[in-house]
Amino acid sequence: GWRSRAAFKLIELDDRFHLITPGTRVVDLGAAPGGWTQVAVKRGAAEVVGVDLLPVDPVPGATIIEGDFNDPDMPARLTERLGGRADVVMSDMAPNTTGHAPTDHLRIIGLAELALDFATRILAPGGAFVAKVFQGGSEKQMLAELKRLFTQVRHAKPPASRKESSELYVVATGFRGMEAKGEG
Ligand code: SAM
Repeated sequence: GWRSRAAFKLIELDDRFHLITPGTRVVDLGAAPGGWTQVAVKRGAAEVVGVDLLPVDPVPGATIIEGDFNDPDMPARLTERLGGRADVVMSDMAPNTTGHAPTDHLRIIGLAELALDFATRILAPGGAFVAKVFQGGSEKQMLAELKRLFTQVRHAKPPASRKESSELYVVATGFRGMEAKGEG
């Protein structure tokens, strides 16, 4: 069985956007308890490397580092473990909520921006980026950046995401490559 209800969100996103196919190399940010990791392996990912603050019970076929993605050396550790470029960088990272909506929103966007910065350095051309964001408006800047870096940028609320939550995923596909990063 799946370890988390969150697993169904990735299943739904992947059914719609076809992110993971046999051989895909995946980075899973905010992996605990491992539902997305399980889905990626099940769908044929060749390699899954992830990170979480919390320990994750081993998932055969994947390596999850216990640690903070904010640590300055974490991108290098993930890159070294993957041993090459990734096809998909997916982030379901969510900070602990404070109950103060504007603060929570800024924090989640901060994590998503950090994930995007990492994605631009590890993705192979044509690669995809998925990140949890919240409806709230202040992600405009990130959206502009995503549109410059990827050929297609869409927002999706998978049916498994509770209706009353403002959780949303941004799905960007067709990474244009490092060259796009330097422009404008
Ligand atoms: N996708 C997972 C699954 O299917 O099982 C569920 C992920 S859960 C919604 C969000 C995770 O993000 C939590 O386990 C949390 O510990 C992790 N997280 C939040 N901030 C983090 C950070 N700075 N570094 C690493 N993980 C972080």
